[in-house]
Amino acid sequence: MERHVSMEEISDGKLYGLGDMVRADCGGCEGCSTCCKGMGQSVVLDPLDFHRLCLGLKAEPKQVMAAAVDLHVEKGIIFLSLKMSGPEESCLFLNEEGRCRIHPFRPGFCRMFPLGRFYEEGGGFRYFLQVHECPKEPKAKVKVKKWIDTPNVKEYEAFVNRWHDFLKKLERALQEKNDPAWAKRANLRLLEEFYLKPYTQGEFYREFGERCKIT
Ligand code: SF4
Ligand code: SF4
Repeated sequence: MERHVSMEEISDGKLYGLGDMVRADCGGCEGCSTCCKGMGQSVVLDPLDFHRLCLGLKAEPKQVMAAAVDLHVEKGIIFLSLKMSGPEESCLFLNEEGRCRIHPFRPGFCRMFPLGRFYEEGGGFRYFLQVHECPKEPKAKVKVKKWIDTPNVKEYEAFVNRWHDFLKKLERALQEKNDPAWAKRANLRLLEEFYLKPYTQGEFYREFGERCKIT
């Protein structure tokens, strides 16, 4: 999900790559679950997040969609996010001890936090530190690559870029067509092709690439 705020307001003014050290390590979040509550629709799930969730929960995409996901539309495009509920609007996967029940397969948003992604004009993205989002202090320095704790991280970043580009192209097409019926079909296809149609375990990146070509 994009935010239109100035980087000076929300960050330390720096952009980081995988090999950089950043002061983001909140020491295992001991006693804190702030970013797992009241996040509205901001814990957005990309196709890899959703695929990992299905594998981790050992459930069919349709079941996961119904039980754990909220849908919302932004700039005409449908987005999936983790459900928040209860008096504190807590993430469905937050347990009574304030810990994440799906830590090994938590979404990319949660892996990065309090880092965010800054998409650059010429393509690609770098990470930035959201300085007002995580109250835990002091934070230790950690290498970005270690912090986001994601296997095959180069392949992962290529996927993130490709998905971002795909959504940007769809956004432009929606504007050009300006046709609600076309928009509805495009969004249904996005849900079917990238979320509801299962991916083979271990083949996500290859199958995602193929689906991008034909969609
Ligand atoms: S707000 Fe910071 S310390 Fe608290 S759970 Fe989130 S990342 Fe951990
Ligand atoms: S998936 Fe886990 S880390 Fe992410 S918001 Fe939910 S409880 Fe928190």
